[in-house]
Amino acid sequence: MPNITTLKCTTCAKEYQPEELDYTCPICGPMRGTLEVLYDYDQLTKDLTKASLQQNHDFTHWRYLPLLPIIKKEYIQPLSLGWTPIYKTQDLAARLGMKNLWIKDDGRNPSASYKDRASSVAVVKTLEKKAPTITAASTGNAASSLAAFTAVAGLPTVIFVPQDAPKAKITQLLLFGAKVLRVQGSYDDAFDLCCTAAEKWGWYNRSTAINPYLGEGKKTGAFEICEQLQWQVPDYVFVAVGDGCIYQSLWKGFKEFHQIGLIDRVPKLIGVQAEGASPLVRAFVAGRDTAEPVQTDTFADSIAVGVPRDQVKALKAVRESNGRFIAVDDDEIKKAIALLAGKAGVLAEPAGATGMAGLMKMAQMSEIKSDESAVVLVTGNGLKDIDGVMQASEQQSVLVENDIADVAMKFKRLP
Ligand SMILES: *Cc1c(COP(=O)(O)O)cnc(C)c1O
Repeated sequence: MPNITTLKCTTCAKEYQPEELDYTCPICGPMRGTLEVLYDYDQLTKDLTKASLQQNHDFTHWRYLPLLPIIKKEYIQPLSLGWTPIYKTQDLAARLGMKNLWIKDDGRNPSASYKDRASSVAVVKTLEKKAPTITAASTGNAASSLAAFTAVAGLPTVIFVPQDAPKAKITQLLLFGAKVLRVQGSYDDAFDLCCTAAEKWGWYNRSTAINPYLGEGKKTGAFEICEQLQWQVPDYVFVAVGDGCIYQSLWKGFKEFHQIGLIDRVPKLIGVQAEGASPLVRAFVAGRDTAEPVQTDTFADSIAVGVPRDQVKALKAVRESNGRFIAVDDDEIKKAIALLAGKAGVLAEPAGATGMAGLMKMAQMSEIKSDESAVVLVTGNGLKDIDGVMQASEQQSVLVENDIADVAMKFKRLP
């Protein structure tokens, strides 16, 4: 592969060539043996520079191609993704006692979540490997994202989701033409079933963490934060955490940009879980390097993960980055949805607003200083889960007669 040197096991550090295997280290197994994609960083220091980026007019995440695991560029699908807007917020920052707060809205990707960064890469890998079919287990967003890209590529796609995944995500899947299997069970059950099916029928598996290339797509959010903020790295980055793949990938992204000399420091990464699905918070607090499985209970469906598949890398990343994993409850997430919508004009699904809820909590506990800067990553659009998001609204609409007198009367009652 262009700049890739090896795939390195997160646990035993054994190195493999990319042609040797597709998923995880056979010695350490699926959970501990996730692979890290390593590049020729000396070469990249020459190839990927501020000057080269300044001359690059591709404002999608493919602008970072030298640091992506793509062999055949012709397999990149034309859906436009990445380089999502980053907003400096004044009012919102002031409310939290801060001066420098940015919201990066990844709900603006083609299927409306951060997962598009990973799926766009997975589709290229499927085509490169000439796999006949691709599959994924997902709480909903990874699947709907994959299905959007495979629709364009014309790739047969089989999806395993928990039976009660939000309707909008199922709708996306069906219209993008995926075969959708709703598993009677949790996301964690769907994950195991998907892996068994992939092995049985030889499908390429885009399920998170076991596939080393997904995180490569997901790290581009970190690259964009650096570049969009003119290389002024923020003190903190807040992001929601389920399996931990986005979290560890962001960390890898910042580390890589640091290593090739594009930034002179790295942020503290704050991973935010829903209290009802917080195995990584517990492991972090207990100082463990793996997580105990939990039963999940949260309305933030995208992060309702009881067995985080990228736990080893995520727990390593939190220590390396001097970051933290913290938990917020569903009410705190609802407040964050309302604040993001009401003050920044960004409608987030519950998991999409969870990073914000984490910042609100830390600000409230005076754990952020007023002169410290933060970026909050919004990972999914609110229209993906209207029933969930509606729970955050304090307002109700008012029904009026088609009559100005009735409007005059009822308008007065609106808060
Ligand atoms: C998947 C997802 C997350 C969490 O990502 P992980 O890699 O599972 O930690 C957060 N927010 C949204 C909207 C997601 O779809």
